Amino acid sequence: MTTDAITHLQCTICAAHHQPEPGRYTCDDCGEAGTLDVRYDYDLVGTTLNQESLAANRDITMFRYSDLLPIAPNAVPTPLTVGGTPLYLAPILASKVGVRSLWIKDEGREPTASMKDRASAIAILKAQEQGAEIITTASTGNAAAALAGIAASVGQKSVIFVPASAPQAKVAQLLAFGATVVLVDGNYNDAFELATEAVGKWGWYNRNTGVNPYVAEGKKTVALEIVEQLGFSPPDAIFVSVGDGSIIGGVHKGLKDALALGWIDTMPRIYGIQAAGSDYMMRAFESGVDVATMPAINAATAADSISADLPRDRVKALAAVTETGGAYLRVEDDHILRAIPEIAAATGVFAEPAASAAYAGLEVASQQGLVGPEDHVVVISTGSGLKDVPSVLAGVSAIGAEPIRVPPSLGALETAMDR
Ligand SMILES: *Cc1c(COP(=O)(O)O)cnc(C)c1O
Ligand SMILES: [Zn+2]
Repeated sequence: MTTDAITHLQCTICAAHHQPEPGRYTCDDCGEAGTLDVRYDYDLVGTTLNQESLAANRDITMFRYSDLLPIAPNAVPTPLTVGGTPLYLAPILASKVGVRSLWIKDEGREPTASMKDRASAIAILKAQEQGAEIITTASTGNAAAALAGIAASVGQKSVIFVPASAPQAKVAQLLAFGATVVLVDGNYNDAFELATEAVGKWGWYNRNTGVNPYVAEGKKTVALEIVEQLGFSPPDAIFVSVGDGSIIGGVHKGLKDALALGWIDTMPRIYGIQAAGSDYMMRAFESGVDVATMPAINAATAADSISADLPRDRVKALAAVTETGGAYLRVEDDHILRAIPEIAAATGVFAEPAASAAYAGLEVASQQGLVGPEDHVVVISTGSGLKDVPSVLAGVSAIGAEPIRVPPSLGALETAMDR
């Protein structure tokens, strides 16, 4: 049972219509690349969800948009506050990169400290709708922590597959939240394949990115919030980092919804930022090859959350950029790591590498003349720096920042401060 406003699920490759029944994940004809998109009757949605109803709604969580989400009208969401994250004006960074204004959307403020909470908050409701005993996902770490945390908040069992190389803080979160954690000796792709096999064998509810049609609906709420926080006047450009391509697809979807509902009248350009060592989408964008069939690459980057051999939501991820007049851009790991203290010192927002990558991408876009002094820009900081402290330390030492070390005496401090 989902909301009446859903008309159908539409294949992103062949446009075939499917019904949102239990067990329906991807398109039969197009296989796993045939991710489905949830379609709504916007006239119906608009009768209950509009600028007036939003102004009167005291719920600050992502569920303020529940009429535009694939959940039952009586669904009881996680008690955790998912969504409602701040959008900060960042004037120092704006003048540094030479844009008219710059806002940072701080998704590090989500309950498990990344934007993945928005996706998992939906997935958990879908699992409960179907009476699933276990919900599972493969993840580079943040989707795992999000699912485990939100599952814990509602007493749902979760089994999580992560690559053995996942940062310690993320694995610590999983274990603390009481998930069954499977560390896979391999990369994210290997973890993903193993999770898929386990779903086939045991029939667990599958939250996997790019397979589950509903998780992107959760991620789209970040764009709806940005639109609302900017008083329904859209920015000119939005920068977001890309691994599997689900977030960028979700951002695009949220903006399309906002256009369809008349909340905005222009579509911002969407820029997808990839690490140079994990640049599948960038290569596809440059070469124009068909992402439905383009083979996997060998990804390696310090920004673990955007390390993806084969972006699972690649079809939507490409459309997000090509349909909005944006671009894909690649940034080197050392640039990503240096961006962490740069953002932090200028704004107080603490980003993990996959999040600082989006700002690093804005710097590249500015150098290339893709954005300029007339542009209002939003950068989505997708996850907290506390997720991966060793990477933050690498970034900090790359800019030469180090503590002053002294014995506990004022004289020694005075000498040290003079240096
Ligand atoms: C997952 C993640 C991304 C990338 O999202 P995709 O949907 O995989 O493209 C970026 N930043 C952070 C912090 C993430 O956790
Ligand atoms: Zn299809």
